Amino acid sequence: MDAQVLIIGGGIAGLSLAWRLAPSVSVVVVEAEASLAFHSSSRSARQMQPSYGPAPIQELTRRSIAMVREISASLAAPILKPRPLITVGSEAEVHALAAGNANLVPLGHGETMKLSPDLRPETFAAAVLDDTAMEVDVPALVEFYRSQAEAAGAVLLTEAPVTAASGLVHGFAVVAGEHTITAGIVVNAAGAWADRVAAVFGVRPRGLVPHRRSVAIVSTTTPANPAGPMVEPADESFYYRPDGGHLLISPCESVPTEPGDAHVAAADIAELIHRINAVTSLGITGVERSWTGLRTHPADGLPVVGFDGSVPDFFWLAGQGGYGIQTSAALATVAAGLLTGEPAAGDAALAAALSPQRASLD
Ligand SMILES: Cc1cc2nc3c(=O)[nH]c(=O)nc-3n(C[C@H](O)[C@H](O)[C@H](O)COP(=O)(O)OP(=O)(O)OC[C@H]3O[C@@H](n4cnc5c(N)ncnc54)[C@H](O)[C@@H]3O)c2cc1C
Repeated sequence: MDAQVLIIGGGIAGLSLAWRLAPSVSVVVVEAEASLAFHSSSRSARQMQPSYGPAPIQELTRRSIAMVREISASLAAPILKPRPLITVGSEAEVHALAAGNANLVPLGHGETMKLSPDLRPETFAAAVLDDTAMEVDVPALVEFYRSQAEAAGAVLLTEAPVTAASGLVHGFAVVAGEHTITAGIVVNAAGAWADRVAAVFGVRPRGLVPHRRSVAIVSTTTPANPAGPMVEPADESFYYRPDGGHLLISPCESVPTEPGDAHVAAADIAELIHRINAVTSLGITGVERSWTGLRTHPADGLPVVGFDGSVPDFFWLAGQGGYGIQTSAALATVAAGLLTGEPAAGDAALAAALSPQRASLD
């Protein structure tokens, strides 16, 4: 099988790139698992928060929300809905957080209580609001990327783990499960496995470390307002938000972990329930279900996107950390521009910040 571009990894990164490339380039996506988006991409909190992350992430998130808004309008049912983010803490903490973050606006104590009446008023002194934050239906977004890519001719292969590769004059011959694929360019969109996949191609790793993080859906004695905000403390040590009649909570742990099928640490959830019950009147009673996924990033915390620079025809789309959903549409667009040699005017600074050749990855 031949392709101009072979994408390794059928998570949201690989599928969104296939969506952008397939109309103009022949694309094959290979996924090790039996189903697409099995790992991190089906385990997120489904948020798109323009105030979250360093400047390049905030820029990509703003762009992605505009793009997903258009996608949502083209579908039978909307996939994007407002989910404002309230961050609470001491005056000093909240002031430090809001400084230079144009997406955060100060919120008075009374206004905070109005938006989030379940918070115990004595547990915080100050608050800020990101009222541009959204919740996205991730399965529907992934399905949009997948179906558009396939409709444009992309070939998607599951149960096709990449295990070996040899360099050709241009590109590579790649063994993926029972397939051998000859590709002009290989894209590494392998999430937690990205450094391991790089090694198969003789490419220098970029220090991409998976960190586990858990989420639980819990029931409460006081039902949370379905349209209520996500709430977190300024030190980002947990968050909670309404979720279909229940509450979604995360202890925001960030524990370095081997790539794999991550599992929840029950003690983290139990401790968090205790903590949320202390700062709210929601009264969490029990856990409905829980899951754990991996947030993979290099030491400087930014994604790694672009041609490797040392090994020709090898392209990185990895290291999205906790931002892979909220940046997917715009990041795939930037990546597609770099791959086809037609980067959009205005993307040069972003491309430099995310480059696999940046000094902070040495
Ligand atoms: C608890 C939690 C909450 C989160 N919340 C948010 C949020 O609210 N908003 C947000 O933007 N982000 C969030 N994230 C982060 C987001 O989920 C990730 O950034 C994103 O899913 C990464 O997508 P990916 O496609 O790179 O990785 P993955 O979805 O893991 O896809 C990589 C794929 O590559 C495949 N693969 C690996 N090796 C090979 C190989 N050798 N051959 C073939 N295939 C291979 C894997 O099987 C996998 O399917 C959260 C993450 C977690 C864990």
